[in-house]
Amino acid sequence: MNRGPAGPRYASIAVPIPLRRQLTYRVPDDWRDLPAAGDRVRVPLGSRHVVATVVEPQVPGPGGDVRVKPIAERLEGLPTLPGELLELTRFVSDYYLCSWGEAIESALPPQSSPGRPRRRVVRIGTEPAMLAQRAERQRALLERLDRVGGVLGWEQLDEPARRGARALVKRGVVAIEDIDDDQAVDPGGTAQQAEPGPQPTPAQQAVLGELYPVIDGRSFETFLLYGATGSGKTEVYLRAAERTLNAGRSVIYLVPEIGLTPLLLNTISKRFPGQAVVMHSARSPRERLAAWHSVRRGDTRLVVGTRSAIFAPVHDLGLVVIDEEQDSSYKQDETPRYNGRDLAVVRAQATQAVVLMGSATPALETFRHAKAGRYRLLRLGGRVASRPLAEVVRVDMRETYRASGEVQVLSPVLIEELRACLERGDQALVLRNRRGWSVALFCPTCGERVQCGRCSLTLTWHRSASRLRCHACGFETEKPEECARCGSADLKLIGEGSERVEDLLEQVLPGARIARMDRDTVRRKGAQAAMLHRFAAGEIDVLVGTQMIAKGHDFHRVTVVGVLSADQSLGLPDFRAGERTFQLLTQVAGRAGRGDRVGRVIVQAFDPDHPVVRLAAEQDYERFYEREIRYRATLRYPPVTALVNLIVRDADELRCRGWARSLADALRRQERGRLILAGPGPAPIERIKSRWRQQILVRMAGRRRLVRAVDAALSEVEGEVPRGAIQVDVDPLSVL
Ligand SMILES: [Zn+2]
Ligand SMILES: [Zn+2]
Repeated sequence: MNRGPAGPRYASIAVPIPLRRQLTYRVPDDWRDLPAAGDRVRVPLGSRHVVATVVEPQVPGPGGDVRVKPIAERLEGLPTLPGELLELTRFVSDYYLCSWGEAIESALPPQSSPGRPRRRVVRIGTEPAMLAQRAERQRALLERLDRVGGVLGWEQLDEPARRGARALVKRGVVAIEDIDDDQAVDPGGTAQQAEPGPQPTPAQQAVLGELYPVIDGRSFETFLLYGATGSGKTEVYLRAAERTLNAGRSVIYLVPEIGLTPLLLNTISKRFPGQAVVMHSARSPRERLAAWHSVRRGDTRLVVGTRSAIFAPVHDLGLVVIDEEQDSSYKQDETPRYNGRDLAVVRAQATQAVVLMGSATPALETFRHAKAGRYRLLRLGGRVASRPLAEVVRVDMRETYRASGEVQVLSPVLIEELRACLERGDQALVLRNRRGWSVALFCPTCGERVQCGRCSLTLTWHRSASRLRCHACGFETEKPEECARCGSADLKLIGEGSERVEDLLEQVLPGARIARMDRDTVRRKGAQAAMLHRFAAGEIDVLVGTQMIAKGHDFHRVTVVGVLSADQSLGLPDFRAGERTFQLLTQVAGRAGRGDRVGRVIVQAFDPDHPVVRLAAEQDYERFYEREIRYRATLRYPPVTALVNLIVRDADELRCRGWARSLADALRRQERGRLILAGPGPAPIERIKSRWRQQILVRMAGRRRLVRAVDAALSEVEGEVPRGAIQVDVDPLSVL
C-alpha cells in the first residue's frame, strides 16, 4: 500500500474494555504501510498496554492540537478475523450492546496473545487419580487443571505446584510436555472411504426435496425442521451438509453440548472422514488454536461445535445446522450475551447461506417466525420405524397426600412402575430438577429460614458433604444447632432435592444400581458424558437427577420415566416458566420407549391438570404454542415484543436504587415514552455476593428501535452510573 496523504495518519481501534465506542490512535510515522482492518496491535490505554484490533485503518484526526497516542506495535502472526467476521462482531456489539473489542475477543481463538513458540505444559492424563489422603497439593493441581480444560502452562505454576505436578507424573496421572504453540492437529484422523448413510425415509426425502434447491441455488433462507424425538432429523442435517460440501461450500454444525453427542461425532467421522473439525471450549487452547487455523486456511470445511463455533472462520459458508435450537446453551450468559442461533441467521444472510434449525419443541420465537413465513417450516412426521410414543400417567399428589396423611415424594404408582421395570431388566429415569438434600432449613417456632449471609437465598442442605450451601455464590457452612433468631433447637429440613430422592429410591428399590446426575456429582469435565455412557451400557438401572438427565440420547432400554414436582417450576417469576417447563417435560418424556419397547411416563404434580403439564403429557406442542402465544400477546411479552433485561448492581443499597431510578428516567425519555418499563425494583434474587440488584425490564414491539433506545439511555447516564454496574441482556432467556 502506498503512503497516504502527508501529515499524521490515524486509525480507529476496538479495545477489549466495556466501552461502546472505538478509540483513535496515531499510526506511527515510521510505518511504511497503513494497518489493515482486522490487524492486531498493541496500544497504550491509561497506564497500561492492551492487545486490540484495527477496525478502520484510516480515519480523520481529532483536529486542533489534541494529542493522540500512537499505536505501540503491530502484532504479526496473531490470528486475525476475516472481514466477514469483523462485520459479524460489529453486529454483536451494536445489537447486544457490548464493546466491539469485547465481541472480537469472543470470536477469536484463545491464547492469541503473543507467546514463545515452544511452551512447557502440564496436561491431565487418562489414568484415574488415586491420591493419598494428605496429597493436598496434588489434589489442588488436579482441580485447577480440571477447571481450565486439562492443560496448564508451566509458567502458570509456582514451585509447590510444580513439585505436585512432578509427583503426579510419577503416578501417571499427568504428563509434562514441551509443545509447539502453533502445532497443528489432524482434524479428522486418517482419510478413509466415506461410509454411505442409510436410505432416507419418504418423510426425509420430502424434506430434502425442499432443501436441496435452496442449497444448490446458493441463496439465503432459514428452515425450521420440526419433528418429534426419534423422527430422524439428524439424517436430514447430514444429507444437507453433504450436499453443501459437494458444492464446494462450508458447513457449521451447532450442537448444545459436544460431550453428550459421541454418537453424532462417530457418525460424522464415518460419513465425512478426515473432513470435520470439532470446536468447543473443553479442548485445550492449543487444539482450539490448531483447529481454528485449519479452518481459517480453508483446509477444513466442516465444523462441528457449540455456541462459539458460529464464529468459525470458514470460507464461503453455505449451511448452518442448529440442532435443538431451543436449547438455552446457545445463549452466552456473560458479556457478550449473544445467542448463537440468532447470530447464525445474521451470518447466513451475509454469505447467502442456508440455516437449518431443528427441534421437537421449538422456541416460541422460532415457531412464530415459521408460522409467519419468515422461516420455512419443514414437518418431519412419524418416528423412525414407527416407534410408539410413551404412555403418560399424571399423578395427583394431593390425592396421595389425602390417602396417606403425609406429603409423599415418591407416589405408590411410581414405586410400583419402577419395581416392575427393574424386574423386566429395563432401565428408568427419575427427574427432580433441584439439587441437594433439602430445599431449606426452617424453624417452625419463629418461621425463620436459614439464608446466605451475602445473598437473598435460602441455603440448601447437602448431606454427603454435610454442609449448607448457597447455590448463588457457593458460600457454605455447618448446620446450626439452633435457630439464630429464636434459639429453638427444633430446626426442620423442608423440600426434597435430588440427593434426597436418590436416598429414597435406594430404600424402596433395594439392590438396584442407582446413580445420581446433577452438578454435585458431575463436577469434573467429561463426568456427565461418562455417567451417561455407563447408563447406556446398562451398568446403571435407575438414573436420578436434574434436567441434565433429559439431555442424554439413545437410551434403548428406558421404559419408565418418573417426573417429580412437575409443576413446581411453573411458579417462578419468569414469563418463560411455562415454556421451559413444557420443554423439559416433553424432552424427558421423549426418552421413554425408544428402541422396540413401549415406555411409561409417571408425572407427579400437585396441580396435574395445569394446562402446561397436561399438554406436555400429551406431547402436544402446537396446542401448547397456541395457548402460550395468546398469553404472551395479552401481556405484551416476547416474542410479541422485544425485551431487554437491565440489572443495576452495587454493594450500597441506596446508591444502587438511585442509579436504577436514573436509568429508568433516561429510558422514559426515549421513544417519546413508548417503551414499556417494569421496574426499577428488586431483582428476583435481590442480593448476590453482597451486591444489591435492581432490575428494569424494557419492552417494545420494534426490536432494533428498542436496542437503540436502551443504548441512548445508557449513554445518557454514563457520567453518573459506571458502565460496569449495569448488566445488559438483550433477548434474555431468563429474567431471574
Ligand atoms: Zn426460630
Ligand atoms: Zn450466597
